[in-house]
Amino acid sequence: MIPAQFDYLAPTTVDEALAALAEHGDDAKILAGGQSLLPVLRMRLNAPEMVIDLNKIPELRGVRDDGDHLVIGAMTRHSDIAMDPQIGEHAALLQKAVHHLADEQIRHRGTFGGALAHADPAGDMGAPALALGCEFVIAGRDGVRNVAADDFFVDLFETAIGEDEILTAVRVPKHTGWGAHYEKFVRVAHQWPIVAVAAAVKVDGGTITEARVGLTNMGSTPLRARAVEDALRGQPATEDAVRDAAARAAEGANPPSDLNGDAEYRAHLATVLTRRAVLTAAGV
Ligand SMILES: Cc1cc2nc3c(=O)[nH]c(=O)nc-3n(C[C@H](O)[C@H](O)[C@H](O)COP(=O)(O)OP(=O)(O)OC[C@H]3O[C@@H](n4cnc5c(N)ncnc54)[C@H](O)[C@@H]3O)c2cc1C
Repeated sequence: MIPAQFDYLAPTTVDEALAALAEHGDDAKILAGGQSLLPVLRMRLNAPEMVIDLNKIPELRGVRDDGDHLVIGAMTRHSDIAMDPQIGEHAALLQKAVHHLADEQIRHRGTFGGALAHADPAGDMGAPALALGCEFVIAGRDGVRNVAADDFFVDLFETAIGEDEILTAVRVPKHTGWGAHYEKFVRVAHQWPIVAVAAAVKVDGGTITEARVGLTNMGSTPLRARAVEDALRGQPATEDAVRDAAARAAEGANPPSDLNGDAEYRAHLATVLTRRAVLTAAGV
């Protein structure tokens, strides 16, 4: 199908984009990589009167070192995340996950910020961002605010970004020296996961000193598997210890049931994938 008619603006600064959003309000929609928005427009699930394209705003793109954090611009493409050496060194979990996201073409258009703002519970970037404790930098007409990952994902396709606001960057705490792995379960390649697990693990002298585990598609938002994290802390990095901790992966989750699997199946998958993700991240 062809989208309904809309006007188009391509501002070159965040301030211009915010002014356009303020002017057009509910009638406007932001365009990032377009990999989720354009299908929505083509199916006429949404028909904005104004599309505000962020692609010509250079300040929204790139990765920079900010001491104990990396700052990733919202318009940084998935393919840039995949190749960036700083992300490989300090936030390897993002790189592990992005390699599983869609295919090469989509990774070259889709953006880190667009995927997070879209907040699909089956999206591959939410659980790693949550597990790493990212902070979301959100700009509005009244200034900039930082929102913690735990407060960013509100509900299905809903985040803390207001209608007159733009996600400008994501601050990622450095996890230098941590092992990382993203374990995704799909029926065919390049699909959204039925369930996936993001794990970052710090091992010191054979003991797991810290673990951060995020779950994809186990509820209406990405989730932290806090019971697993608590159970892993201080345990030896062994198959038995990880299996026992991973058995708690679905605690507090509310997985959906659909044609790919019911909630009980997903709960079981979460335990299996958590075990694999943590063992690989821990190098066992
Ligand atoms: C065939 C196909 C397969 C895919 N497979 C996967 C997959 O396996 N895993 C996966 O995770 N994803 C998958 N995707 C989605 C892909 O990750 C998209 O890149 C992502 O969902 C949206 O990013 P985008 O930059 O294209 O955003 P857009 O589509 O441009 O925007 C998405 C939404 O976010 C809003 N938005 C975008 N940027 C901002 C911002 N900076 N501030 C505020 N709001 C903003 C837009 O208004 C829109 O509502 C797939 C997409 C396609 C087409």
